[in-house]
Amino acid sequence: MSDSLEKWKRTHYSKEVNQDINGETVTLMGWIHEIRDLGGIIFILLRDRDGIIQVTAPSKKISTDFFKEIRKLKKEAVIAIKGSVQKSSKAPGGVEIIPDALKLLNEAKLPLPLDITEKVKAEIDTRLDARFLDLRKPTVSAIFKIKSRMLHSVRLFLEREGFIEVNTPKLVASATEGGTELFPITYFEREAFLGQSPQLYKQMMMSAGFDKVYEIAPIFRAEEHDTLRHLNEVISVDIEASFLDHEDVMNILERLVSTVLEEVQDNCETELKLLERDLFVPETPFERIDYDEVVDIVNSKGTLMRYGEDLSRAAEKAMGEFMDGYHFITGWPSDIKPFYVMPSDENPKKSYAFDLMYKDLEISSGARRVHKYDLLVERIKKQGLNPESFERYLAAFEYGIPPHAGWGLGSERFTMCITGVNNIRETVLFPRDRRRLTP
Ligand code: ATP
Ligand code: MG
Repeated sequence: MSDSLEKWKRTHYSKEVNQDINGETVTLMGWIHEIRDLGGIIFILLRDRDGIIQVTAPSKKISTDFFKEIRKLKKEAVIAIKGSVQKSSKAPGGVEIIPDALKLLNEAKLPLPLDITEKVKAEIDTRLDARFLDLRKPTVSAIFKIKSRMLHSVRLFLEREGFIEVNTPKLVASATEGGTELFPITYFEREAFLGQSPQLYKQMMMSAGFDKVYEIAPIFRAEEHDTLRHLNEVISVDIEASFLDHEDVMNILERLVSTVLEEVQDNCETELKLLERDLFVPETPFERIDYDEVVDIVNSKGTLMRYGEDLSRAAEKAMGEFMDGYHFITGWPSDIKPFYVMPSDENPKKSYAFDLMYKDLEISSGARRVHKYDLLVERIKKQGLNPESFERYLAAFEYGIPPHAGWGLGSERFTMCITGVNNIRETVLFPRDRRRLTP
C-alpha cells in the first residue's frame, strides 16, 4: 500500500456519492472514522470534510492480500480509496464503496486524546486542548460551516445595501471609550494597545465621505469575566452610515439578521440537522422596548434594577423570560452610554442608543452618533476623559462630518443564536479567554 498520492486525485466528496452514480468508479480521500472487522467482511466509515460514507470490503470480492492490508488499518488514519459505487439498502446514505485500491497516506497516534465519534463525551477544556481533533467531529465543524455562511451572507447583504468594506488599525495609541478593558502592548519605545472597537475609525470614515462602511475584524477586550458569553478576542461586524439615524440603522440590522437567517437555513440544511437545530426566521420589524419599560418589567419579575443602571445578568435573564425572540432595547440613559452616543433631542438624559437582544443575550449595540464638535468635547469631558487624547479623532469633526449612525454586532454571539450552542467557546476555532492563550 503506497503512502504517497502520486497521480491520485479526489473525484468526489462523500456527499456527492449517491445512487445516481451506481456502478461508477470514484476516488475518495479522508479519515477512518470507524473500522469494524466482522471476519469475512470489513466496514470502514470514511469521513471527509463534508460527511461520512461506508466502505465495504467483503473477503470474497477482493484479493486476499488487499483484504489483509485493509484489516491493518486503524482509526483516524488518512486514506485515499478507489472503488466502485454500489447501491445498498443497509448502508447509511443508501450507497457503499467496494474498494479496488487504497493508499494509507498517514497514520494517527493511538489512543486519541478524545473520541471523534462522540460515543465518549469530553470536557470543553480537553476538547479545546486538542482542538484540531475536536474540529474533526461533524457536529463541531458544522458550527464553523454555519459561521462561515453567516459571515458570507452578512457581506453579501451589506454590499447589496451599498456598504464599502474597510480595514482599520488594530494597533492603537489610546482607548476608544476610556475604560480599562484594553490590552497594553509594547510598540517600539512606547506603550500602545490592541483595538477594542473600530468605533472612532469608522466615524472618521464618515468625515472622509465614504457614506456607508463596514468592517469584519477582531476586537480585543481585556475583560476579566469568565462567562459563557464573553471572550477576550472576538470578531465584530461593524457598520457606520452617514445621513442616516438610529432608526435607519436598526432597520438595516433587523433586515440583515432576518436575511442572514434565511440564507443560513437555505444553505446549511445538513449542518443544522447535525446540530438538531430548528432555525426560525423572525419577521421584521423586531419589537422595540424602551429602557424605562425594561426597568419596570425587570422589577416586576422580582429582580432589583435601578433607573440608570446597565442590565445586570439577572436583569437580562428576567427580560429574556419576558421576550423570547429578537428585540431591541431603545431609549438608554445617556450617562451609561459612551460619549459618542447622541442624547435625545426631547430629553437629553435619554439617548438614541439601542441594543439588539436575542432572548437574554445582547448581540449588538448601536446608536445615532454625536456629530457636533462642541457637544462631543463636552461629552468626552463629562465622562472624565481628556479631549487631548482624542485630538486626531476630534479633528475629523471640525471640517464637515455628516450626521451618522451605526452598530457593532458580535459574530460569535450571533453564531450562538443561530446554532443554539450555549458556550461562546464553541463558536471560535481557537478561543481566547481569561485562562486560555493556547493553542
Ligand atoms: P456585554 O455588556 O454583553 O459585555 P458590551 O455592551 O460590553 O457587551 P459592546 O461594546 O456593546 O459590548 O460590543 C458590541 C457587541 O460586540 C456586543 O453586543 C457583543 O455582541 C460583542 N462583544 C463585545 N464584547 C464581547 C466579548 N467580550 N465577548 C463576546 N462578544 C462581545
Ligand atoms: Mg453593548
